[in-house]
Amino acid sequence: MILAETIGIGDELLSGLTLNTNSVFIAQELEALGIVTRWQTIVGDDLDDIKDALERALSRADVVTLTGGLGPTHDDMTKKALCNYFQVDLKLYPEILEKIKRRFERRGYKLPKINRNQAEYPANAELLNNSAGSAQGMAFQVGEKVVYSMPGVPREMQAIMREEILPRLKDRTSTRMVRINLHTTGVPESRLYESIHSVFLDHPNLKVAYLPKHTGVTIRLSLVSEDVSTARSQLDLIISNVRQLLPEAVYGIDDDTLPKVVGDLLRELESRVATAESCTGGLIASMLTDVSGSSDYFEAGYVTYANRVKHAVLGVPLEVLETEGAVSEATVKAMLNGALKAAGAEYAVAVSGIAGPTGGTAEKPVGLVYIGAGRKNDLVVKRFQFGRDRILNKEMTAMAALNLLRIKLLADLKR
Ligand code: ATP
Repeated sequence: MILAETIGIGDELLSGLTLNTNSVFIAQELEALGIVTRWQTIVGDDLDDIKDALERALSRADVVTLTGGLGPTHDDMTKKALCNYFQVDLKLYPEILEKIKRRFERRGYKLPKINRNQAEYPANAELLNNSAGSAQGMAFQVGEKVVYSMPGVPREMQAIMREEILPRLKDRTSTRMVRINLHTTGVPESRLYESIHSVFLDHPNLKVAYLPKHTGVTIRLSLVSEDVSTARSQLDLIISNVRQLLPEAVYGIDDDTLPKVVGDLLRELESRVATAESCTGGLIASMLTDVSGSSDYFEAGYVTYANRVKHAVLGVPLEVLETEGAVSEATVKAMLNGALKAAGAEYAVAVSGIAGPTGGTAEKPVGLVYIGAGRKNDLVVKRFQFGRDRILNKEMTAMAALNLLRIKLLADLKR
């Protein structure tokens, strides 16, 4: 396995004033080649600290990247540290100096003295062209290991990475990273782990990361392999095993979103859907209509917040609202029937709950939501208990509602 270390240089990175996004970019690009970033280091504009960091990195990593500290305002700390480390002097490149001079002259300036050093590089450096700026990148071979030094400006660093460094590294590596993101909702991370971790035990070279959010957990599966198509088939098999174990939780992979998956199923069933929402205030309709082409299957959305409107628009019986309350299984069932009838759609989804943070009672606490979905004479309503945060409750309710509808649509498709 090829190991990498990124070193970000600059006082502003240490103080947190600038985020070290260069390391994020570099690690992602290296990972695609199967090169694993094991360490990320940040050092300030200090000659000894840069040299120490370089020494430590070369003692453990095969590929070391340095970004920043190249400009004249940084007193060229990185170049000096590289010269110290390799025990070489700076070498002046007259052709680069000419180029920089001409660039200044075109703008009507004389070359400032401090810019001269943009034409000076450690004598043992192989220069890497910078198509986005004037400071060149540098490559150093250290036995089997390699050090790359780049400017800190992200645009320039990215240009050198893409045009100069990645093609070189591609030639050195025969491995590639194959990765699939598996999206789930409705099952907490620990329960997901318990249900599926046995699937992964047969694949020792597989890396699994659980990425939880309040709307669901994404499971990131990565394989480093010399044979991309075999790795892809291995991942496909793993995914189909996970899907079998968690048919209700897994809704898609990679770019799939739940509203898009629901839309595709509706299209396959040649059916349309209507939404009847209370506590989500139209969020479910909004998510469904975020998908381009949703007019194929989205018929109508009713936001019936007040009880009076639940009755007037969706025909929820007044006695149900009085005896059971707006947040109840009976109300949501009536909302479903009302939406199916009013819109003339084949499917409906409905929600009613207490989004909070106020409005809860001992019997009906904040976060209690009833969610229903289905067709005429084939409706399901479920009770959910979410938390105390109003916005999170709305988002979790919308996801749970769309997932309930998805499960229903899948079942109908298999009939
Ligand atoms: P210059 O020649 O412009 O001085 P440099 O190579 O010395 O370039 P820095 O001065 O350290 O690089 O950084 C230039 C700009 O690039 C900073 O203002 C900062 O916004 C950005 N930058 C530097 N390092 C990083 C990093 N690791 N991640 C994201 N942005 C960075």
